[in-house]
Formats: sequence, structure tokens, C-alpha cells
Amino acid sequence: MKGIELKEPVSTKLQSLGELQQTKVIALFSLVGMTITGLMALFAVYNQSWTLALSLFGSSSIFFFAFYLVKWRNHSHVSSIIITYSLYILMFYLILTGGVANTGPLWISIVPPVTVYIHGLRKGLINISIFVSIAAFIMFSPNIIEQQALYPIEFKLRIIYSFLTISFLSALYEYSRTGLYNSALALNNKLNYLAHFDELTGLRNRRSAEIILDDHVLKAKSGATFSVLLCDIDFFKQVNDKYGHNIGDKVLVETANVFTKLLRDTDYVSRWGGEEFLFILPDTNINEAYDIAERIRTAVAQHQVSLMDHDISVTISIGIQEHRGIMSLDNLISLADKYLYEAKRAGRNRCLPHV
Ligand code: GH3
Ligand code: MG
Ligand code: MG
Repeated sequence: MKGIELKEPVSTKLQSLGELQQTKVIALFSLVGMTITGLMALFAVYNQSWTLALSLFGSSSIFFFAFYLVKWRNHSHVSSIIITYSLYILMFYLILTGGVANTGPLWISIVPPVTVYIHGLRKGLINISIFVSIAAFIMFSPNIIEQQALYPIEFKLRIIYSFLTISFLSALYEYSRTGLYNSALALNNKLNYLAHFDELTGLRNRRSAEIILDDHVLKAKSGATFSVLLCDIDFFKQVNDKYGHNIGDKVLVETANVFTKLLRDTDYVSRWGGEEFLFILPDTNINEAYDIAERIRTAVAQHQVSLMDHDISVTISIGIQEHRGIMSLDNLISLADKYLYEAKRAGRNRCLPHV
């Protein structure tokens, strides 16, 4: 049986909305990174710190490249890697050199929120741990490069403490953000399912069948043929009266299972009403539809449902209608319904019209 063909499934919409939002944020990060490093570079030029200015201009260009990739080349993953690691390298450089008046290390507080947002909680925390280890190593090892910035021990410790606090808060925020996002996604999946499938039998509901029917009626205008089978369980009220509504429900589920086992890959079956089912058989003329209907009818009649010491079997009556030429949906269904009614009047457990 085909998967449901929704024009735009809600869950997919929400998922792509999440991806779109992340792409936008990556673009924004690269733009902000480019602007800030660009401004810092101008400031460094003003202070005649040529090496710092050169590295900041370099970083600014890399952020612009990341922006270009995400905006015009749609490479948000590559862009996110470039942003993260060029940011890290810039931070290490600022820690090593001290930036302007030894304030360079102050900038590392932007690393945790950027990292967890871009890489998610788990990968983000791994990246942050690696970053802080390298940052601490640089700060506490005085002789990595010549003219390395030297900071008071209290300053270094507080930088690390504040970095860890911001990391914790960023992780907490990311945890609740993804939690909320995932529950919204799950809720949407469920709503999407309920909007198109019947909860009891797992078959498509009437709304879903109508969408498919509309599509086939449209295709039929260009010559395609299809048939429908409208099927109703015989004397189902008696099943409910004799065994109770719950057993009645189980019989419905079992009957639906018989239907799905018999379907071809191209066919659809839906719960059209209480104990009425509608089959849509694409590329099927009335003769083929009759054979299929007979097969379904026989299979249901032969199927024994064993429930609470009872062996219950039900029969079904089926009205068959082929879609011919230009026929409206209402017309198609009411013709199938007319044959179903005739099948009931003729004694039930049969398919009409005979072909
Ligand atoms: P026939 O179709 O052969 O004329 O007789 P019937 O007794 O099946 O009559 P009808 O189709 O009119 O009755 C439908 C019955 O199906 C009535 C209702 O109680 C029962 N029914 C409809 N939906 C459900 C359901 O979801 N669960 C259960 N257990 N029963 C249902
Ligand atoms: Mg019935
Ligand atoms: Mg009925």
C-alpha cells in the first residue's frame, strides 16, 4: 500500500522550518562575526597594531566566506564548521597576544552559545571542552610564543570560571530549546497522522481518501481509469449487540487487517464511515475491480476472529464503480453506494454489479 501522499506534511514543514531557522542563524553568526572582526580590525589599525589588524581582517574575510557559502551556495554545514573553528583560532590568537590592552580573553564568552547552537548539545559540549582545555593551556603556559600576553592568575581563573558558567547556561538553554522543539515535532507528527489516518484501524480516514480521489478524478480527465469499491459489513449492529462494542471494534480492526493484506501496492483502502470502507484501485477497470472485490469478500467471509472464547466471522457487501470519462466524485460514490444498497437488498455477502 502506498504511503500517504500529503501535499505538504505538517511535520516536514516544521522540520524544514527548523533547518531554515538554523541556516538563517548560521548566516547571521557569520555576518555578525564578519562585522565585529572587521570593526576590531579597523580599531587595531587605528592603534597601529598591524599584526592584530591583519589577523582580524583575515578572520573577517573567513566569516564573509562562510556567509557566502550559506547564503549563496547553501552549504550551511561547511559554513558552520568554518565559523566555529575560525572563531576558535581567533580566540586562541587573542588569548596569546592579549588583543587590545590584554582584554582579548574576554571574547571567549561568545564561544559556548555559538557552539551549542550550531553543533547541538552533545557535539557542542565536546567542542567546548576541547576549546577550554586548549584555552587554559595557552593561558597557563607562558612561553608558547615570544611577546605572549601575561595575565594575573586571578584574571585567568575568573575567565575560566565565567566561561564554564556560560557554557553551563548555554547547554541548559539548548537542552530546553531542543526538548521543546522535539515535543512540538512529535505533536505535529501525531496531529498529522490523526488528520489523515483512522486511529482504530490504522487505515486512511475519509478526508485522506477524498484527497486521493480528487487526484484520480483529475487524472481521469486525461484518460486514466480507476475503480472504487464501497464496502459495508453485513449485520454489524448484531455483532455489537451480541458481543459488545469493544469486541465490535476488534472485529473492525481484524477486518481492516484482512483488507490491507490483500491490497496491491498501488491500491488504497480507507475507513469511509463507521463500518464502511472505500477502496481506490488505480488503473483498474470494472472487470479487474470485480475480481478484486470478490477476492476481498471471500477472504473476509473465511476469516475467523477469535475473541474471548468466541469465533466471530462477518461478511461484507460491496458496490463497485469504475470511473468513466468525466464523472464527478459525488456521482462516482453515489453509484457505488447504489450498487452496495442493491447488494444488501439481494441478500448481502456479495459484490455488485456482476460482470
Ligand atoms: P447492514 O449493513 O447489513 O444493513 O446491517 P448493519 O447492522 O451493519 O447496519 P448498518 O451498516 O446500518 O449499521 C452500522 C452499525 O455499525 C451501527 C453501529 O453501531 C456500528 N458501528 C459503527 N461504527 C462503529 C465503531 O466504530 N465500532 C463499533 N463497535 N460499531 C460501530
Ligand atoms: Mg453494515
Ligand atoms: Mg453501514
